[in-house]
Amino acid sequence: MDSRDSLRHQGMRKRLVEGIRIKGVRDQRVLDAIAKVPRHLFMDSSFIQFAYKDQAFPIGSGQTISQPFTVAFQTQLLDIQPNDKVLEVGTGSGYQAAVLLEMGATVFTIERQRELFLKVQQLLPELGYHPKFFYGDGYKGLPTYGPFDKIIITAGAPALPEDLLQQLRVGGVLVAPIGPSEKQIMCKVTRKAEDEFAKEKHGTFMFVPMLKGTVN
Ligand code: SAH
Repeated sequence: MDSRDSLRHQGMRKRLVEGIRIKGVRDQRVLDAIAKVPRHLFMDSSFIQFAYKDQAFPIGSGQTISQPFTVAFQTQLLDIQPNDKVLEVGTGSGYQAAVLLEMGATVFTIERQRELFLKVQQLLPELGYHPKFFYGDGYKGLPTYGPFDKIIITAGAPALPEDLLQQLRVGGVLVAPIGPSEKQIMCKVTRKAEDEFAKEKHGTFMFVPMLKGTVN
């Protein structure tokens, strides 16, 4: 356990997890992962009192650490199995990546803002989390590292990115909020065959937008 993670923090996380369970996330493996990841260490220390409220929070560079319920909900839809090879678009604070790693996934994560990328690349290993970090445009995915068992987009995309669908293995699942900037529909896409994709809708959410290109 990290020395900056106290029994008090663990108690607050337990209550957070209970709140997420009541809101409808019942997958115990997801709840266990949320209970383990010290969310307060992913935020600036002056905002520590907000770390275990179920809300999104600014992390600098105009970006946010997603609401814990949203992280849990997307993770549940992904149905993570140990050793799943997962691509995450939008590293941000690194919190979602940490949750996936706690569940035994191998995580490849892309961030388009260099400042955030550099910050998280330092922070996560300090906390014992080791995804593979990439600075780049998530719309392109990581063609040389695919195919992936699971793909998660943590920014609102106007439409399903075709390059990412093509990097999903047959049987794999992509979860992404799709729609205009005001609100998106959470979509779960399963690749049934080389050219067959099954799509489900899972409610309305609000994410920061998925943008093209990179920011230096
Ligand atoms: N998963 C993050 C959520 C961060 S918010 C967390 O757990 O904290 C969404 C992130 O997606 C932002 O950091 C934003 O810079 C990034 N992003 C937006 N468009 C992107 C793109 N095309 N490629 C990679 N990252 C992108």
